[in-house]
This record gives sequence, C-alpha cells and structure tokens, in this order.
Amino acid sequence: MDDREFRNAMGKFATGVTVITTLCDGEVHGMTANAFMSVSLNPKLVLISVGEKARMLEKIRETGRFAVNILSVEQRELSMQFAGQLKENREVSFDWLSGLPVIPQALVNLTCNVYSSYEAGDHTLYVGEVVELITREGEPLTFFAGKYGINVSLD
Ligand code: FAD
Repeated sequence: MDDREFRNAMGKFATGVTVITTLCDGEVHGMTANAFMSVSLNPKLVLISVGEKARMLEKIRETGRFAVNILSVEQRELSMQFAGQLKENREVSFDWLSGLPVIPQALVNLTCNVYSSYEAGDHTLYVGEVVELITREGEPLTFFAGKYGINVSLD
C-alpha cells in the first residue's frame, strides 16, 4: 500500500476542524488539527495527534498545556491561517481561558493539562485532561477527502 492510498482512505473519515493553541515563552502558537477525539468521561480526557515536524509538538512538550478550539463554519479562514495555507499571515486576536489563549467565537474552547503522551510512528498522541470549557451554538466547519465541507444530503 502506498502513502497516497492510505491518506486518501483516511480522508474518507469526515471530521470537524480544530485549532490547537498554547502559550510558550510568552508567545501564542496555534496549529490546525482534525486528529481530535473525546476519550474518557471520568476523568474527562481528550486526545490530539501532532506530527513530528509540527512546531506545536515541542511547545506542548515544554508547557504541558494546550487548548482545543472547535471551529464553526464561519472560521474556515482561521483554519487555513493556522495550517499555513494563506499567502499572507493574518493577525489573530485571542480570548483567554484558564491562562491559555483560545479562539473567540469557536463552537467550543477547552483547556487541558497533558495527562499522558505516546509516540506513535511520525506523530505524538497527547491525551489532555480537561480543565475548563465554553460552548457556543453554531454550525461546524467540516473536512472530508482533503476539502472543507461535506456535500451530502440526508433528505
Ligand atoms: P507553523 O507551521 O509555524 O504555524 C502554523 C500557521 O499558524 C502558520 O501560518 C503561522 O503563521 C500561524 N500561526 C501560529 N501562531 C499564530 C499566532 N499566534 N497568530 C497568528 N498566526 C499564527 N497536523 C497535525 O500534526 N495534526 C493534525 O491533526 C492536523 N490536522 C490538520 C487538519 C487540516 C484540515 C489541515 C488543513 C491541516 C492539518 N494539520 C495537522 C497540518 C498542520 O496544521 C500544519 O502542518 C501546520 O502548519 C503545523 O503547524 P506548526 O505547529 O508546525 O506551526
């Protein structure tokens, strides 16, 4: 099986989109991620998967803290910004929750302390214990087969 076949197959799993944020040496850093899942209710745990080349990896290792921001459909540009997909970088303003930067108007902001981490091939899985969260109403930004949005009708 080649890499493209594997990536294409995994891309058939439709997801939401998050931006992971953290504060490291006084600087806010953000990274778009769709490898996010809820893990446990008691204690309340979530999981993210960070690539070995991502600058975010070292920052979470250093700080032991991160926030997950679940994006709304209106926040596609922010997803592109934090994936390095825009030609020009935008200045982004952040809100604060339990001392961590979070994305204003995201569907969910949640802050975590790293509970455990596991190296898995070329990614590191961070399990975070949730400290605090805020939820808002709205439609989610979705990602499917390498593109934003899912064109399916259930009617
Ligand atoms: P950089 O590449 O340095 O930063 C990412 C971008 O965010 C840059 O453009 C930077 O300018 C901007 N940025 C960072 N901080 C700020 C700030 N404070 N203000 C304004 N802009 C800022 N990778 C994974 O490892 N795991 C995943 O689950 C994952 N899922 C993805 C899902 C989607 C839909 C997409 C499009 C990409 C995904 N990626 C994922 C890839 C990942 O988002 C990129 O590789 C990203 O560039 C890696 O970020 P980095 O930490 O190396 O930082």
